[in-house]
Amino acid sequence: MSKAASKLVIAIDGPAGAGKSTIASRLAKSFGYVNLESGAMYRALGLKAIEIGVSVGDGPALLALAKQSTIELEPTPEGNRVLLNHRDVSARIRERDVTDAASRVSTHPEVREWMVSRQREMGANGGVIMEGRDIGTVVFPNAEVKIFLDADPQIRERRRVTQANAQDNPARAEKLKQDLRERDRRDSTRAAAPLRAAEDAVHIDSSKMTIEEVIARAEAIVAEKLRQHGL
Ligand code: C5P
Repeated sequence: MSKAASKLVIAIDGPAGAGKSTIASRLAKSFGYVNLESGAMYRALGLKAIEIGVSVGDGPALLALAKQSTIELEPTPEGNRVLLNHRDVSARIRERDVTDAASRVSTHPEVREWMVSRQREMGANGGVIMEGRDIGTVVFPNAEVKIFLDADPQIRERRRVTQANAQDNPARAEKLKQDLRERDRRDSTRAAAPLRAAEDAVHIDSSKMTIEEVIARAEAIVAEKLRQHGL
């Protein structure tokens, strides 16, 4: 089902493993929107820090690194293609070391400020679905649609293990679960733009829902907003 493109901004926030990417890419397809994964930008900077040997604890150095970098997100039906200085790093940034680095670089206020202004540029003309942790609270506080997608921690951990095909490897599964817990902790306790639902966000708890049920609920929310805007 393809609906006419329009100019709303749709913000989807929530913790790791809640299903944000899946929902965002399906909504993008249904409504003819562009799906942008803001986390991929923090991942790309984390990768660059690893490669150059800049400490993920050094905010000013990370900001300097960010300013020297081009980080591009190219939406595709399978998710975002991520280019770091024109090099395709889409697969590399999903690896464990980069995931950890991304969560650490994202704690620095100066890094966040740089990312937020890039993200605002990307969404300036509307017609975007941006997913992350602070989209509805900081990046686009006036987004017409805000969804906070959550699920019980144990369920998110189990999904992450299944996604990584680690069900039959208890040691690896345990590591993945620990990583997710640690990332959640860091994302929700950092001083700069911690993970939190915007006051006007619609909450969806996907713990007991199938993906199709979550998509149907999110589509209904977006369709209603489009109707209200005469789109
Ligand atoms: O969404 P994803 O898991 O790819 O994000 C990687 C990391 O980037 C998160 O763990 C979080 O620390 C950070 N992030 C953020 N703000 C966003 C998106 C991601 O701090 N809007």
